[in-house]
Amino acid sequence: MIRPILIHPDPRLKKLCEPVAEITDEVKRLAADMLETMYDAPGIGLAAPQVGVTKRVLVMDCIKDGPPEPMVLINPQVVWSSEDVSTYEEGCLSIPEQYADVKRPAAVTVRWMDLDGVEQERIFEGLWATCVQHEIDHLDGKLFIDYLGPLKRQMITRKMEKLKRERARGL
Ligand code: ZN
Repeated sequence: MIRPILIHPDPRLKKLCEPVAEITDEVKRLAADMLETMYDAPGIGLAAPQVGVTKRVLVMDCIKDGPPEPMVLINPQVVWSSEDVSTYEEGCLSIPEQYADVKRPAAVTVRWMDLDGVEQERIFEGLWATCVQHEIDHLDGKLFIDYLGPLKRQMITRKMEKLKRERARGL
């Protein structure tokens, strides 16, 4: 089921999300819905707070060409970050049509729990590294625009407020 994606500014996007204690049917349904919502958008990553659920769950798939590689990460944690940084032009499904360069570690090791409750660990590089860090930020109530200067951030926030008003009026 496709769930509506919250648009910034929204207090639910600023919350510190709760860890998932156990993999219930509800968590499995949430993950399936999030993947469906992400592919439909379309996007390469989505975090639970973006669909209004303040739990530490994210989904992603950074494959552009080739068979999809849907990933579900529960309680993800960065356990190692490279000193090398890389810059990507980031966007966000909660901040539609706004893009900005963000500098982050070029590679990270992330540990998480999968949908079978099994602990996983992997090194992410390139776009995957940027994506996983962007999505983990969401679980801590942080958006990519928080890395920008205050003027740029305010400008984007005003655009989003306007977009929300227009959408509320059905324009
Ligand atoms: Zn995002």
